[in-house]
Amino acid sequence: MNTTSTALTVGKEIVSYCTRCKMDLGHTIMSMIGGMPSRVICRTCKSEHNFKAKKGVKEPGAITESASKAAKSPRAPKAEKVIPVELEWMKQINASPRPVRPYAANESFKIGDRVNHPTFGEGVVQKLIHPNKMEIIFRMDIKVLIHAAPKK
Ligand SMILES: [Zn+2]
Repeated sequence: MNTTSTALTVGKEIVSYCTRCKMDLGHTIMSMIGGMPSRVICRTCKSEHNFKAKKGVKEPGAITESASKAAKSPRAPKAEKVIPVELEWMKQINASPRPVRPYAANESFKIGDRVNHPTFGEGVVQKLIHPNKMEIIFRMDIKVLIHAAPKK
């Protein structure tokens, strides 16, 4: 058995860069020219193309069986549901360059202000409602809070 042999022949598997999948994938050699693979078929998308050297682009899930198991396990124990509010919140927190201000009902806030609320945590002002209310997106929920009417 020469399982580690690098001798390439038609019908053998080789890792080639797939122009269609845009990553290094297992390909089946279809023809050889001068000891080098010439035409290969991508095992993933089944397209036939010229053999291309690896580019170092790897698909996370499609390596070896043990590697794909290892890649899955970190996520497995905690199947935490990501709620859309949290995603939006994260986006807004990351997008807002403003300093975080502690929430206080007698303070005035503007859209885009970052607020730190003692109960709800950090949030970003979404909307100003009426003269003295504002909608704030927090990690878990969107809340309407009172604040001081904007000073003229
Ligand atoms: Zn492919």
